Amino acid sequence: MKNVIGAVCIKCGAEQTAANDTYTCKKCGGILEIVYDYHYIKSRLTREKLAADKEYSIWRYLDLLPIEEGSKLSALRVGWSPLYKTEAMGKALGLKNLYIKDDGLNPTSSLKDRASAIAAVRALHAGKNIVACSSTGNAASSLAGNAAALGLRSFIFVPERAPIGKLTQLLIFGATVIKVKGNYEDTFRLSAEAIAQYGWYNRNAAINPYLSEGKKTVSLEIAEQLGFIAPDYVAISVGDGCTIAGVWKGFKDLYALGLIDKLPKLISVQAEGCCPVNRAIETNSPIEPMEENTLADSIAVGVPRNGDKALMAIRESKGITVNVSDDEILAAMRLLGNTAGVFGEPAGVAGTAGLKKVVEKNLIPQDATVVSVVTGNGLKDITSAQKAAGEIGGPIHIAPDMGLLEDEFRKRGIEV
Ligand SMILES: *Cc1c(COP(=O)(O)O)cnc(C)c1O
Ligand SMILES: [Zn+2]
Repeated sequence: MKNVIGAVCIKCGAEQTAANDTYTCKKCGGILEIVYDYHYIKSRLTREKLAADKEYSIWRYLDLLPIEEGSKLSALRVGWSPLYKTEAMGKALGLKNLYIKDDGLNPTSSLKDRASAIAAVRALHAGKNIVACSSTGNAASSLAGNAAALGLRSFIFVPERAPIGKLTQLLIFGATVIKVKGNYEDTFRLSAEAIAQYGWYNRNAAINPYLSEGKKTVSLEIAEQLGFIAPDYVAISVGDGCTIAGVWKGFKDLYALGLIDKLPKLISVQAEGCCPVNRAIETNSPIEPMEENTLADSIAVGVPRNGDKALMAIRESKGITVNVSDDEILAAMRLLGNTAGVFGEPAGVAGTAGLKKVVEKNLIPQDATVVSVVTGNGLKDITSAQKAAGEIGGPIHIAPDMGLLEDEFRKRGIEV
């Protein structure tokens, strides 16, 4: 890879080559970050080149991705999700410049596709024919889908609580699914043992440093879609921490290349019932494990595997932390649906729920440019969506009679 210099450990600073099996630091076992040759990339990745590029997927940013030359790229359209300026929702929240980045519109309906696309391409190029991971759901379904698109097999370890929509996706994408009796922590451990035993390609997000490189494309797109101006704030939900680390890396890359001239502040949103990353920031102490008490299954991560990278991202950006209750998450689901026409899953809308709280606490100015990333689609977890919808009121259930219909409208005070 001409664009990649190597990998550096975020714990001990040791530099190493970015090889296929480079997952963690050879010296201390810490998490690695990929280092780019910005001087080389600068001459290749320009605003003009991007403006003329008709490749509307993450592959438009190949110059900034850890993909070996000659790799076969997946044909799935991952990335280039829409960035909506949502005036009605902005008004509801009290923000003049609010944008929603709808990453639920990826091929398998979550932001995770950005990472899994990289994993599948790298696995194929490394001569592997099986990829594996443990996941609360979306990493798994996205890996299974992206693997299928490249003709790879997938082995997926899921905790028992994974919603049925996500499990079903896995089966349709032809994955071998192992449903582990236990929580995410137990699931992760078994997957790590099996991966070591069988030599499969490891897509576990924390371990594999190439994955947050894929996730960073969400920021490359946000900046490009805003005309190469970084927003003031980006609100994002946090589980393992790989996503928020990727978001930060994307903006830092663009800044290093001179394509944007400031960096945003990150708003790190976790669930009140599971917020180990935010708690570590707020108490300025190391991450301590927490229970996983939230309906937002995709961010129910009691032992964040990429916590250190997440902490770095939040601190470096001088970011804000905020925790939200399940009720606030369900309310955000209704708000996004009602005012923006965007349907997110609980973890997908948690960022928006957190943003609402941050505005209410007057922590950000009303005229700030703010992007709230919706990280996953609501159809993935219909049970939670039904809970959210229940508070709106169910359908009007009547016989096919115009008189009855008018009665119901009158009774319920529905204007027609
Ligand atoms: C995985 C995921 C997140 C959080 O990403 P992490 O890298 O685990 O922090 C947020 N929302 C959705 C929908 C996800 O699938
Ligand atoms: Zn190290």
